[in-house]
Amino acid sequence: MRIPHDDGPEEESPRRKRKAATKPEARSTPAPKGAGRVVEPSAEEPAERGANTEIRPQTFDEYIGQAALKRKLAIFVAAAKGRGEPLDHTLVHGPPGLGKTTMAHILANELGVQLHLTSGPAIEHKGILAGHLTALGTRDVLFIDEIHRLSPTVEESLYAAMEDGRIDLPVGEGSQARTINIDLAPFTLIGATTRTAMLSGPLRDRFQIIEGIELYGDDELALIVERTAAILGMAISVAGAQEIGRRSRGTPRIANRLTRRVRDFAQVDGLVEITEKSASVALDTLGIDEEGLDANDRRLLTMIIGGFDGGPVGVEALAASLGEPRDTLESVYEPFLLQRGFLLRTSRGRVATGKAAAHLGLRLPPGAVGAQTGLKI
Ligand code: ADP
Repeated sequence: MRIPHDDGPEEESPRRKRKAATKPEARSTPAPKGAGRVVEPSAEEPAERGANTEIRPQTFDEYIGQAALKRKLAIFVAAAKGRGEPLDHTLVHGPPGLGKTTMAHILANELGVQLHLTSGPAIEHKGILAGHLTALGTRDVLFIDEIHRLSPTVEESLYAAMEDGRIDLPVGEGSQARTINIDLAPFTLIGATTRTAMLSGPLRDRFQIIEGIELYGDDELALIVERTAAILGMAISVAGAQEIGRRSRGTPRIANRLTRRVRDFAQVDGLVEITEKSASVALDTLGIDEEGLDANDRRLLTMIIGGFDGGPVGVEALAASLGEPRDTLESVYEPFLLQRGFLLRTSRGRVATGKAAAHLGLRLPPGAVGAQTGLKI
């Protein structure tokens, strides 16, 4: 596999060259609706594709936050290496942009093996899966992003590969048709999903390690911003990094993107350092408010408050009103709004909280569920 063109500023290191891996199929996947927002967490920055960018952490040490997860995975890696075995099949779940792909890079790197990347929608049939599996060297890692989007037939083929280390392939047609069994080198499958609930039970059961990645804290995001700014060669004050981190929706990918955009503003203004003030003005101009909400977040909350009396409103009805796929709502918008107390999930649907209404300068109807939650600012 070839390394794709990187528009990042750095030279790739020879070590990374060895780990060359690309994500061509993932790039051919249609962009999700809503891509293009400055805070869209699922759209990749061109500079973060592949392994050849300094911004993507390459080791556990460079991976900021998620301390408990790192501790566990480091032990599993050390144990597998000690036994000379592949790492057990690993499923990583969490909202987009939190570092699932990055973790796969790190695991392969720490294991000292090659990483091969693909995605669920790109594996259109068994033949493509067989192509990926047979290209793996001993103990290599195959990373399948959006693994919940595999077709049932491909998924079934994956079971035998994961369990028995073989894949059955039909060859020939008509009376010539037969099945050949291909033995595979021992390998690790790392699956990533934004939605564990959408993963079939049998597939989930075949992963020996299942771990979630949580939204990041503001301090961790500030560290990520500082690290990214340093790699980009832009000075930033501690308060400037905190300002960007705070408005990054708990998501490293957004923190990186905002750092680049804020750098553009600073550069055009002739600043030698990103300050809290310059970051704040730039983020305001980008339409990201002081709570980190963008126009789409505000539209969602305004819709619940204005269109559905504050809720509860079913997720399907909300998605239809906003013209967004339900999946985008659940995996992209909601985690941050829930975490920050702007939104509640109840058995009867989504509810905007008093905090959301106060933030938007709106009023919840007196009987609204959100008005009774006590979640006011
Ligand atoms: P996901 O696969 O979950 O959508 P990625 O692994 O592609 O997310 O991460 C998006 C970007 O965020 C990466 O390019 C990486 O630079 C950055 N990133 C993610 N997690 C971390 C982290 N823990 N520390 C520093 N940067 C991170």
